Amino acid sequence: MTMREMVDQLNKWAYEYYVLDAPTVADTQYDALYDQLSAMEKSTGVVLEDSPTKRVGGEPLKVFLPHKHIKRLYSLDKVQSFNELEEWINKVISVVGPTVFTVELKYDGLTINCTYSNGKFLGASTRGNGIEGEDVTAQVLTVKSVPLSIDFDGFAEIQGEGIMRLSALEAYNRKHPDEPLKNARNAAAGAIRNLDPAVTAERNLDVVFYSTGYTEGMTVGSQTELVQFLKNNRFKTNFVFEEASDFPSVKAVIEKIAEQRGSYDFLIDGVVIKVNDYATRELLGYTDKFPKWAVAYKFDAEQVMTRLEEVRWQVGRTGKLTPIGVLSPVDLCGATISRATLNNMGDIRRKKLKVNADVFIRRSNDVIPEVLGLAQDYSDSMEIEKPDRCPSCGSKLVERGANLYCPDSLHCLTQIVGRIDHYCTKSACNIEGLSEKTVRAMVEKLNVSSPADLYDLTAEDLSRLDGFKDKKISNVLKSIEASKSVSLAGLIYALGIDNIGTVTARDLARTFRSLENLKKADVATLSAIDQIGDVVAQGIVDYFADKENLMALDKLAAHGINPVYSENVNTGGVFSGKKVVLTGSLKKYTRSEAGKIIESLGGQLSSSVTSTVNLVVAGEAAGSKLDKARQLGIEVIDEDTFISLISK
Ligand SMILES: [Zn+2]
Repeated sequence: MTMREMVDQLNKWAYEYYVLDAPTVADTQYDALYDQLSAMEKSTGVVLEDSPTKRVGGEPLKVFLPHKHIKRLYSLDKVQSFNELEEWINKVISVVGPTVFTVELKYDGLTINCTYSNGKFLGASTRGNGIEGEDVTAQVLTVKSVPLSIDFDGFAEIQGEGIMRLSALEAYNRKHPDEPLKNARNAAAGAIRNLDPAVTAERNLDVVFYSTGYTEGMTVGSQTELVQFLKNNRFKTNFVFEEASDFPSVKAVIEKIAEQRGSYDFLIDGVVIKVNDYATRELLGYTDKFPKWAVAYKFDAEQVMTRLEEVRWQVGRTGKLTPIGVLSPVDLCGATISRATLNNMGDIRRKKLKVNADVFIRRSNDVIPEVLGLAQDYSDSMEIEKPDRCPSCGSKLVERGANLYCPDSLHCLTQIVGRIDHYCTKSACNIEGLSEKTVRAMVEKLNVSSPADLYDLTAEDLSRLDGFKDKKISNVLKSIEASKSVSLAGLIYALGIDNIGTVTARDLARTFRSLENLKKADVATLSAIDQIGDVVAQGIVDYFADKENLMALDKLAAHGINPVYSENVNTGGVFSGKKVVLTGSLKKYTRSEAGKIIESLGGQLSSSVTSTVNLVVAGEAAGSKLDKARQLGIEVIDEDTFISLISK
């Protein structure tokens, strides 16, 4: 075999192994030929440009050299909701007429720009600011799925995302148990931007290619043709590539991806939607930052993999049992996570979760992390058993739908404590100074069994609890008394009806104006309210059909707690009579906080911009809603103006 033949043979085998995932020879056979080639290179002093021996990485660099891209690498505009995506797609169609969109995964890694000339790999750089990046040729050379030679012989810039597969991360961590890598994205980015190529080599990265910048003399007319070009030249391409012609079909692809995402061997943080046809792209053009013919739909959560060590069943205030996964601590969105919900038994079965197995978890904005799915199980992994009895009171559990319930709501201590604790929370009746532990002591020592019993407590009763001295007793009694003036929305939320959060409670209060009216509402009336579905509506009807609940409400009313809805507090507010939309992110407030402020000052919140909206509060990175508001000539204010308005 000549040296040329050896290099070609080894590169072909590597391509089959690393790109196609379909090896045709055993590792030993590859290694033997590789050794033979190395020896020949040593004895002759000749190393071909695309020899696989170049992949070992070489000496650590002192510094990264700058690299100017021939064509600018644009980043993509983002949409965060299906509403925004629909607006974007319809806007494109309104400009260019019916057109085909492509849907691809948005890999979560580091963007790499590779250059080729005369069919050979010339170098690689990071994206940097889009115009100039850092030269990472030595690092990217170690990535075995990046071809060293291609058939296309013009000068070309070809772009992809450098990633670390989750299985590679796991294999790496098995080898380095004392210094495990926590997150595949950071592991990939850190490996490419590491001055020592040996570190990059050890992480076993991949580059998935999806775009070209400059390509000398090449004519492809669409993304579909481009992907074929990349495949023909032995590049690893996107795992998902679909075409769709309107919003519903794009959405269907995204939903499928979201569902399968947990089973991928790599992290994605969204989906990229592009106009397929290049000539149509030219019609749409660019803003100063983004192409107008592509957009990234970002998933709202990050996911990581960790070990599920144990499952504990927690009884909630409604009697519902929630399986809580105890995890090997892992970093997610900047926080260390050691517990996550597994939702319910149905979910555990559907996701095939096991104890002593690796699972994916994710966290949305302020929701408790959730176990998404099984990543990998082992010979010592165990099935998760369905509990038979309530861990709090020992009652035999009942199944309702996918969930298990403790049926003994009157005697189950954890349920009672949970209900009273919930009643006292800030958004409910706001009774201060009662920790869960105190509530538990009240239930155990003072015969408190429902929120209404709180109003019978005397100073003498409280003095029997640990840590209750004069000052604290008087404060708690004052706080209990003050809670009698709770708003109707606060009380509805305080009751702890299944699926009723603060927002729904406010909607119900606004619609029904008194508990008496709410009690009489039927499923049809309730589910006619925006955001209330049949399940939620049925939960409300069931709640008020329960004799125990009605007795508890009578008891509260006897203590003077029977608020009616009042709008009077709002009419003088700065937003009174205005329909307000919040968009983008504010620095000082979360959306929910800002929403509460707007409502407390008389405003009515709306989630979409229509001609009936009076005001748009736009934070940073406000997207299509802001554009629409401007189109419709609606008043737009920024965060500073918002703050000055509310502090008047
Ligand atoms: Zn129980």
